[in-house]
Amino acid sequence: MQQEIKKHFVEHFQKEGQMYASAGRINLIGEHTDYNGGFVFPGAIDKGMIAMISLNGTDKVRAYSVDLDDYTEFGFNEEDAPAQSWARYIFGVCREIIKRSGNVLKGFDTAFAGDVPLGAGMSSSAALESTYAFALNDIFELNIDKFELAKIGQATEHNYCGVKCGIMDQFASIFGKEGHLMRLDCRSMEFEYFPFDPKGYKVVLLDSVVKHELASSAYNRRRESCENVCNVMRENGYPKVEFLRDANLDMLEAVKDKITEEDYCRAKYVIEEVQRVLDVCDALNAGDYETVGEKMYQTHAGMSKLYEVSCQELDFLNDIARECGVTGSRVMGGGFGGCTINLVKEELYENFLNVAKVRFTEKFGHEPKIYPVVISNGARKL
Ligand code: ADP
Ligand code: MG
Repeated sequence: MQQEIKKHFVEHFQKEGQMYASAGRINLIGEHTDYNGGFVFPGAIDKGMIAMISLNGTDKVRAYSVDLDDYTEFGFNEEDAPAQSWARYIFGVCREIIKRSGNVLKGFDTAFAGDVPLGAGMSSSAALESTYAFALNDIFELNIDKFELAKIGQATEHNYCGVKCGIMDQFASIFGKEGHLMRLDCRSMEFEYFPFDPKGYKVVLLDSVVKHELASSAYNRRRESCENVCNVMRENGYPKVEFLRDANLDMLEAVKDKITEEDYCRAKYVIEEVQRVLDVCDALNAGDYETVGEKMYQTHAGMSKLYEVSCQELDFLNDIARECGVTGSRVMGGGFGGCTINLVKEELYENFLNVAKVRFTEKFGHEPKIYPVVISNGARKL
């Protein structure tokens, strides 16, 4: 990919530049915990974005997308926003840097390409933002700390791309480290690296290639349920429950007759999921990947039966994983489609993929897409 980008850069701009890269991400466990003040557990992957950049002596950015074979130019003022969505990520990063640091940017030429599948749940957009946030910080010697670089990516999505996302994707893409996952506390924003080096296992995503329409309205209703239960807990003897992260199952039982059955199930899932992330951390410290896998299955069951954000395609993939002896499997991301993430013993890997392809195609008429991933470094200069 590097050679390809360099070739296109030279073709367009008749010179060479400096290369930077960043990564997509997975989340091993900790789903729907972010807005409940809990933990997520992401890591950067070996699929990412690479950009070549060189100053051009003007006050404009000249940008070429290798993958889309598309070129555009834009200035740094708010009214200069480019029409192409891919370019708005770069423009947004520039604008967010300027909002924080003043008029510190100068015109540059850039070409970029990536191998994070778009919209498959590995956050190609965060890889794109993080590459440019990291690169521009380095080139213009801005000394912006890494957490702020992640926030620049997040603010780009909010303000220039119309996506009100959390911080996890950009965080993982910026801070990712080979052989490590990161437990991020979504309330305090503190984080810790945990070793993830599952020798004898592979991590593979199976993309159902479906996205059910329900997703965003259902997401909002789940958030409401969580807030309802927190409110009821606060009014009934637990004034310190700011988020469900502060609750435990005993507290939930104590308010059970004051909430709906549905809200009870939603809250039970979240409380258990927050604890599962902590359990996985202990298991990783002990190198116990079998326990990690069991927790992944528990998450899937919770997301399917209690939180009700799975769908038949994802449940089907999860069932096949169980049947094939896969160590851990669960829906990754918000639900209603997208991928399952699977932790598979190497000797079972080929069989699992074959069975999943055949059986899924029989039932749903198309193959799942298969993405093996390795936990790798995040944003960096090449
Ligand atoms: P994801 O879940 O993968 O982040 P998004 O819809 O948030 O999906 O972001 C995908 C968008 O990011 C694309 O529509 C495009 O604008 C941009 N993008 C991602 N990868 C590339 C790429 N390799 N080349 C150009 N643009 C890309
Ligand atoms: Mg995205």
